[in-house]
Amino acid sequence: MIEISDLEAIFKKIEIDFKDAPKLYISHELKNYSNIDDKAFRVLVAAVISLRTKEKTTWEVSERVFNSVKNFKDLNNIPVEELQSLLVPAGFYKRKALQLKTIAAVCLSDYQGKVPETIDELLKLNGVGRKVANLVVTEVFDTDGICVDIHVHRICNRWGLVVSKNPNETELILRDILPKKYWRIINQRLVIFGQNFCLPINPKCNNCFLNHKCAYAVDKGFMSS
Ligand code: SF4
Repeated sequence: MIEISDLEAIFKKIEIDFKDAPKLYISHELKNYSNIDDKAFRVLVAAVISLRTKEKTTWEVSERVFNSVKNFKDLNNIPVEELQSLLVPAGFYKRKALQLKTIAAVCLSDYQGKVPETIDELLKLNGVGRKVANLVVTEVFDTDGICVDIHVHRICNRWGLVVSKNPNETELILRDILPKKYWRIINQRLVIFGQNFCLPINPKCNNCFLNHKCAYAVDKGFMSS
């Protein structure tokens, strides 16, 4: 199985090997916003859009939404039907439109039109779970958090780093065992690795540099070719 002490080299290799892989919208495209309120708004909205939605669709839909909606005031004012049409074809676009409208109303009334800065406050917003909350605090507010999506959850279990039933459980275990220097980068590295190599179905274990140690591959009898 993969050990914590292996992670430094693994994350470095993933960074190098997948440097030309398609970039992630939230951690790449939005990272250079200098106005923190604008950045927080966009990261939160894009993170909600990204739920159950492919990366390419998240990118296209988010850009379309941000062409019309620049802040919580715009989001509060836009008719829900118009927002729904902007969100198509993101998964659950009708529900997300309602959630985003509710988020806008709460942020305007309770947070002076800004995004709340703590995980506990973010979790009170409609449609915001631990993945989105951790993403916002790590990408925007420079706060320690571990954003565990389905890729991080799957790969950590395959490696044998954790044994858990869902992403929330994985996050809580990682908070105990993972050195803080990896809290922010684990998501970026494993999302890229999970989208391009350690796929949900038919991971490319035959050609994987980890197949001699990864618990999943060892169990299945894979070896480097
Ligand atoms: S050996 Fe297979 S399961 Fe393990 S990390 Fe590589 S691709 Fe994923």
